[in-house]
Amino acid sequence: MSITVWQAREPGAPLERAERPMLEPALDELVLEVLHCGLCHSDLSMLENQWGVSSFPLVPGHEVVGRVVQVGEGVDPGVIGQLRGLGWICGSCSHCGQCLGGTGNLCPSLEATIVGRQGGFASHVTARQDWAIPLPEGMDPAVAGPLFCGGITVFAPLIDEAVSPTAHVAVIGIGGLGHMALQFARAWGCEVTALTTTLAKAEEAKRFGAHQVEALDNLANLSGRFDLVINTVNHCLDWGAVMASLAPRGRLHQLGAVLEPIQVGAFDLIMARRSITGSPTSSPASLLKMVEFCVRHNIRPLVEHLPMDRVNDAIERLRRGDVRYRFVLDAAAVAKG
Ligand SMILES: [Zn+2]
Ligand SMILES: [Zn+2]
Repeated sequence: MSITVWQAREPGAPLERAERPMLEPALDELVLEVLHCGLCHSDLSMLENQWGVSSFPLVPGHEVVGRVVQVGEGVDPGVIGQLRGLGWICGSCSHCGQCLGGTGNLCPSLEATIVGRQGGFASHVTARQDWAIPLPEGMDPAVAGPLFCGGITVFAPLIDEAVSPTAHVAVIGIGGLGHMALQFARAWGCEVTALTTTLAKAEEAKRFGAHQVEALDNLANLSGRFDLVINTVNHCLDWGAVMASLAPRGRLHQLGAVLEPIQVGAFDLIMARRSITGSPTSSPASLLKMVEFCVRHNIRPLVEHLPMDRVNDAIERLRRGDVRYRFVLDAAAVAKG
């Protein structure tokens, strides 16, 4: 018995189909048969070894929806057959202060799905049971994958910081992350402004939940306005203008993995008690709350489907920014069915 993976032999190389031995779940792990897997910008960063943590051959893919087909000895076999979602994190130690305190995404020994492990562009993948989140009734498995990385990334600044529903939230960038952030912030009850370089996307941004859409160039004219700015863009901005757009005690929450330092003046922080934060996905508890929240408010990623064996086409198009708004690769059996 073997499994199929799509792997890159070296940095920047296209993915090739390969066979590997069947996975053996550890004590508290599940084996998921992959049905769908979203493609995230972090997959591209890992394929190019931008963060220096990639090991090759690399199997990317960390927005998995799969069916539990096998469990480790420490897992209740009653979960076999369940549909579960898996994101960037696939395991944490369960006994450190962060794990015990409900912030397992900050565990010093957490395991990432595609760092030193085989990811979800494969027929099967393993994960610890507490990081593979059961899909609630009413959630469409074909589009749910992107919630488990992109979705939780933008849900985290709302739920983990208990943002008030009376807050005015701005989302910079209407892409893979931003289009979900707009839906979450609107359903949270907030006043929502989308900030974009592409005003052609304005109508779509409003359908995702924006009350207003503003050009990013116009930020200098929006000073003192936002309680929370969620920045999904991964290149440098006019940081002074971003800080000035915050209301007193407002917060810039950085999610785009910009590689250059974020330069702001001390007085940007001091005079109105503004702050800058960031976050790496979130905890299993927040993931569980997110999927319930999505079903209740009919929040769903807008995805384009391709069969798994066209993953290289999806990667090329994502590199060019040619996707609205997230790719989901479908396993062969699902694509045929
Ligand atoms: Zn831990
Ligand atoms: Zn991701």
